Amino acid sequence: MKIRVGFGYDVHQLAEGEEFWLGGIQLDHQKGSVGHSDGDVLIHAICDALLGAANMRDIGYHFPDTSVELKGIDSKILLKKTVEIIAKKGFTIGNIDSTIALQKPKINPHIDKMQKILAEVMGIDIEDIAIKATTTEKLGFIGQEDGISAYATVLIQK
Ligand SMILES: [Zn+2]
Repeated sequence: MKIRVGFGYDVHQLAEGEEFWLGGIQLDHQKGSVGHSDGDVLIHAICDALLGAANMRDIGYHFPDTSVELKGIDSKILLKKTVEIIAKKGFTIGNIDSTIALQKPKINPHIDKMQKILAEVMGIDIEDIAIKATTTEKLGFIGQEDGISAYATVLIQK
């Protein structure tokens, strides 16, 4: 069996009047994520980690932010497609670990739901996707609530 590791990182600006999509669900907050797609920073970090593990470039390569069809797209569709892309090289997901860095709102009450939805989209067990959340203690652009970032590590196998 061949086992490979991958890492992904993404940042989005937060702005008032935007929808806030994170981990495949919509959160109720006065600010939302700015992006060409729905701006789901966690999904984008996971996609990049999966592509990196398979050495198949990055999310911007496969889903360019200049593409008209991708404008406002549900990132769950991008995630599903990413799983299909790495499957072309014969890879399946072993497990995913991730961290969201965000000052507000509190993410912990939503993690169960995010795990369930993302596991379903990727066709993996809930046990194989971990989602953690942290603030940056009010420091930097995240602490000032100007942005959100996410990190993901994945293991894939064939
Ligand atoms: Zn992104």
